[in-house]
Amino acid sequence: MYPQVSRRGVLAGAVAGAVASVWPGEARAQDGRRTRALRVAHLTDLHVQPERRAGEGMAACLAHVNALADKPDLILTGGDLVMDTAEQGEARTALQWDLFTKTLRDHNGIAVEHCLGNHDFWGMNKKKSATTGEERNYGKKRALEALGLAARYRSFDRAGWHVVVLDSVMHEGDGYIGRLDEEQWEWLKGDLAATPTDRPVLVVTHIPILSVPAALVEPHKETGKREISRSWVLTDAKRVVGLFAKHRNVKACLSGHIHEIDRIEYQGVAYICDGAVSGNWWKGRHKECDEGYGIVDLYPDGTFEHRYVTYGWRASPNASIEAGLYQA
Ligand SMILES: [Zn+2]
Repeated sequence: MYPQVSRRGVLAGAVAGAVASVWPGEARAQDGRRTRALRVAHLTDLHVQPERRAGEGMAACLAHVNALADKPDLILTGGDLVMDTAEQGEARTALQWDLFTKTLRDHNGIAVEHCLGNHDFWGMNKKKSATTGEERNYGKKRALEALGLAARYRSFDRAGWHVVVLDSVMHEGDGYIGRLDEEQWEWLKGDLAATPTDRPVLVVTHIPILSVPAALVEPHKETGKREISRSWVLTDAKRVVGLFAKHRNVKACLSGHIHEIDRIEYQGVAYICDGAVSGNWWKGRHKECDEGYGIVDLYPDGTFEHRYVTYGWRASPNASIEAGLYQA
């Protein structure tokens, strides 16, 4: 399921090493073209459920990724893989995970690394999901079990890049806030400290660390204050951004959650929110965002190129009037 460094990655690394002494920090093949280390497809907010042809849509997206003439080496998912398990019982939760894992198995031949989102947290709202919190696989364990993952956050090296997948969703009351828990924060500090300074780092979260749409809030009618939702961006973004400032090899952060596309450049790091495979939760486009996914080309010198790709999905005309589940 997780192949080692791709052949292309090995070749790119070899070329980069060969020319590094000639042009420091810039890798070029013998014909003068820049040599890529790794091509990543970032698929976020799939929100799979039996309704609204979501399974078909996910299959169409995977078919599109797998048919690219210049095929990605790796798929990173960005969380909210299923429509909603936060407010659903075990049977409905199992139905959604079964559809997700079957669709992935049947329509994809590329290595995948998963990130979890708020909709993947089983029983966040105990009343609505009829959970107690004492279930063997309560919460994130249910998603990890379905996906065959050992940990909710982790890192790995691929083709000369260091990829960090974080868990940005913290349970609070019947909902959640965006944050890294202390255990994960300590781990992240150690992980970046242990990463060689010449190895570029790509970070993946579900909830954005920084986000333009999250900041576009109307002032409060009485106080005039503008308050950013604690569930839209990381509430501890300041310390995370501060940590990245100490590790200049952190180059890019990918996120989802907002179902919009935006890119912030701050202190040498790009924060990219990558739209949504499901668009408007399988009801068409969401604001300016069509159903799609990100393609990120990573280079050995720590530079990268990103673009958002649509896959031609047309939402079912009945999708918006079908019985709605959880929307946000
Ligand atoms: Zn989300």
